[in-house]
Amino acid sequence: MSKDDLVVVTGAGGFIGGHLVHELQKRGHTRIRAVDVKPLVEWYQKSPGVENQVGDLSLLEACRTAAKGARTIYNLAADMGGMGFIETHKAECMLSVLINTHMLMAAKEAGAQRFFFSSSACVYNGDKQTDPDVTALKEEDAYPALPEDGYGWEKLFSERMARHFREDYGIATRVARYHNVYGPNGTYDGGREKAPAAMCRKVIEAKLSGRHEIEIWGDGQQTRSFMFIDDCTEGTIKLLNSDIVEPLNIGSDELVSINRLVDIVEKIAGVKLKRRYNLDAPKGVRGRNSDNTLIKKVMNWAPSIRLEDGMEKTYKWIYDEMTSGKASVVNALPRAVAAQ
Ligand code: NAD
Repeated sequence: MSKDDLVVVTGAGGFIGGHLVHELQKRGHTRIRAVDVKPLVEWYQKSPGVENQVGDLSLLEACRTAAKGARTIYNLAADMGGMGFIETHKAECMLSVLINTHMLMAAKEAGAQRFFFSSSACVYNGDKQTDPDVTALKEEDAYPALPEDGYGWEKLFSERMARHFREDYGIATRVARYHNVYGPNGTYDGGREKAPAAMCRKVIEAKLSGRHEIEIWGDGQQTRSFMFIDDCTEGTIKLLNSDIVEPLNIGSDELVSINRLVDIVEKIAGVKLKRRYNLDAPKGVRGRNSDNTLIKKVMNWAPSIRLEDGMEKTYKWIYDEMTSGKASVVNALPRAVAAQ
């Protein structure tokens, strides 16, 4: 693939898409089209020299406009958020099937050669995630299927559709199962944010207000792994350019409890907070980790940025946003759901 071929990134006004556009530019791609449904003013990042397009990709016509002339498509657009969002917006999450279906159809029509789909660790069978001391999830653990209701079912279905577009129409689809991604320039407020950004925001709020307590969803013993955004974009570009046709974990395998995540943020902030556990709040599976055996074997690489290092950068960005009065338009918007 030449660096002058047109690359399309959907969901580019969001967290991962915005970083991906930036990274592709850094790597010398000269023709990038960034697409998102949000008005431009709400995009988290806008890179100069990129063709920015606003369109609702649940509609086939908008997908055709987005895909026109594209050689490569990274499809990251989705209606999604953290546990607080996906557990309460299952229908909305499932409607992303329209985006994924129409983007694949448009990619085929446009003659695109490569198509990346951002799936999720939420496709994994829930029965394998009932213990905080979880056995890390291997790619084969998605079947027999018992994914996260709503969001996870949609991702699993769309993975399958990507596979059949490859088999039947010859478009080289690549599927990543991202495990929790975090970093600067993401959502930290409003109801769609995920645990790392939410913890930073809550600790900063406690620090600034002098009310030294924090609400934690669940008992804090649930475990997860969190991948810093730079590892995510690196793995995404590597996978797109690889010959790996089966879905692949792209995630950190540094397993931590939510309590440990709070310890890390407290240490960065230089505070110690009284913890209040909200056992009724959405909390997702009991334990989840990424088994990176396959990615190491096929790519000779795996995400490796330490949580403490990534969280330091994330905390700093959120702190600056919250204290400088320049909170991004999106993060400043009121949202319907209570924030985690
Ligand atoms: P994000 O919400 O920040 O970005 C998604 C973007 O898609 C948003 O900007 C949104 O406006 C856009 N979008 C939604 N509906 C659209 C539509 N109809 N037309 C055009 N654009 C639309 O989320 P993110 O964290 O950047 O996630 C990107 C992708 O990675 C998503 O597919 C998500 O499911 C997947 N993923 C993310 C994580 C994570 O931890 N962030 C984990 C697993 C999978």
